[in-house]
Amino acid sequence: MTTKTIFEKSRTGRIGANLPKHDVPTASAASYLGADNIRENLPLPEVSELDVVRHFTNLSHRNYSIDGGFYPLGSCTMKYNPKVNEATAGLPGFTGLHPLQDETTTQGALALIYELQAMLAEICGMQATTLQPSAGAHGELLAMMMVKAYHKERGEEHRNIVVIPDAAHGTNPASAARCNFVVKGIPGNSSGRTDLGALEKALNRNVAALMLTNPNTAGLFETDIKRICELVHGVGGLVYCDGANMNAMLGITRPGDMGFDVMHFNLHKTFSTPHGGGGPGCGAVSVGSKLEPYLPIPYVTREFIDGKPHFHLDSSRPLSIGRVHSFYGAFLLAVRAYTYIRSLGAKGIRGVGENAVLNANYVRARLAGHYDVAFDNQVCMHEVVLSASKQKHESGVRALDISKRLMDYGIHPPTNYFPLIVPEALMIEPTETESKQTLDEFIDVMIQIAEECKTDPEIVKSAPHVTVVSRLDETQAVKQLDLRYEPLFSGS
Ligand SMILES: *Cc1c(COP(=O)(O)O)cnc(C)c1O
Repeated sequence: MTTKTIFEKSRTGRIGANLPKHDVPTASAASYLGADNIRENLPLPEVSELDVVRHFTNLSHRNYSIDGGFYPLGSCTMKYNPKVNEATAGLPGFTGLHPLQDETTTQGALALIYELQAMLAEICGMQATTLQPSAGAHGELLAMMMVKAYHKERGEEHRNIVVIPDAAHGTNPASAARCNFVVKGIPGNSSGRTDLGALEKALNRNVAALMLTNPNTAGLFETDIKRICELVHGVGGLVYCDGANMNAMLGITRPGDMGFDVMHFNLHKTFSTPHGGGGPGCGAVSVGSKLEPYLPIPYVTREFIDGKPHFHLDSSRPLSIGRVHSFYGAFLLAVRAYTYIRSLGAKGIRGVGENAVLNANYVRARLAGHYDVAFDNQVCMHEVVLSASKQKHESGVRALDISKRLMDYGIHPPTNYFPLIVPEALMIEPTETESKQTLDEFIDVMIQIAEECKTDPEIVKSAPHVTVVSRLDETQAVKQLDLRYEPLFSGS
C-alpha cells in the first residue's frame, strides 16, 4: 500500500455532519463569491465524525512533544510548560478581550503587560521592554531598526556595519542584513569565545553595532564581556545581546550590567511559553536609556491619579520606529510568561538558572569519556556542545546518525551541526525541568550508542528503525509540502 492509500479514509456517502439546506439563491451567491466558486460537487473526503477524530488523534501521536518525552534540543530551551500557565491564559477575562476596546475597560490586561515589561527589564538590568515582536528573530529585527534610528538621529547615518561573531545564530546576520547593514563576521578564539584582537580589528567609526550571544552558542560564558562592550562603545557603536540563552543567567547576572544596550528574550524559550508549531511566540526586547525613545508604539505606561494606578497605551512617542505587530503582540503569551515569573518569584527564577547550568554540566561530565566535548571540556553554561568527530573518524558514524539513533530509544535528537564552528556538533540543552533520573536515562542511551558505533556502526547509520518513516529528504520535505487532499476513491 502506498502512503496515500493508508491515509485515505473517504467512503462515498459517509457523513460526519448534517448542515442545514442553504437558502441563498445560486445567482446571488455567485455575485458575492464569483461564479467559478459555486460548485455542485466538491471532492471533499466523506468521513464520519469518529473517522476524523481517530485520524487526527493518531497523527498527533506521531508528534514528539515536551509533554511526551525528553527534548534536549540545544539553543531552543525546550523546557516543560507548566499547566498553571494555561489556566491563567484561559481565564475568560483575558480570552474575551477585544484589542479595540476602550482602555478604561482593559485596565487589568494593561496592568499585566506593564508589569511584565517591568519584570523583564529588571531581570536583564535594562530600562524598558516591549512585548510586540513575535519571535526572537523579530526582536533582533526590531533592535536593528532601533539601532539604525538611533544613529540617524545623531547624524551618523554613515554607520553601516554590524559586527557578528561567526558562532552566531543565523538569524543575527539575517536581521542586520534586512536593515541594510553590512555584516562583518569575526572568528572566535581557541577557547570558544570572542577573539578580542579580531574584534578590535573589525571596529571603526562605521560600526553601528555588535550582535553577541551570551552565553554564546558554544554554551560558554563570554568572560571578556565588559571589555567587549567598552571596545564597541569606544567607537560609538551599540552592543546587542541575543538573549536566547538567558536561561543560564536568570537571577544570577544581567546583560544590562555587563554593558549591553539592547537585547531580546525568547519568552517561548526562557519563560516557558509554548514554541507553538510556527504559531505566535514572543521575542520581547529590552533597552537601556539610549534606545528607549525608539521603542515601538503603542507602549503601555502607568500614571497615578489620586494614588490609584492608571494604565495607558501611549502612542505619542516622536522618535518611535512605529509598529512591529498588530495591536500589542501576542497577549496570551504575555499572560503565560507573567504567570511563570510570578509563580517562581525572584528566588525561583535564580534556581532556574542554577539548575539549568548544573544539569548541562552533569550531562557533560558523564559523557566526556564517550564523546569529544567542544573546546576542551570546559565547565559550560546551560548547554553542552559535543562532537561526534571521534565516532566519524573511527567508524564513519556522523552526528546526524547518532541523532537518528536516539529516536529509536524514544528521545528527541539534540541540535545537529550547530554551532557551525564545531565539526559534527551535537548541542545538548537539558534544561532545569528534567530530573536526574531522566538525565541518567538519556546519558545511558548516549553511552550505548557510542558503544554501537564501535560494535555495530551499521545499526546507527541506518537509524531510525522504529519510527513511522525513516530518513526523509529533509530539503524536499520543507520545499515541497504536500498538504492538499486529493480524492483517491470514487467508489466505496
Ligand atoms: C532561537 C534563537 C534565535 C531565534 O529565535 P526565534 O524565536 O526562533 O526567532 C536567535 N538566536 C539564538 C541564539 C537562538 O537560540
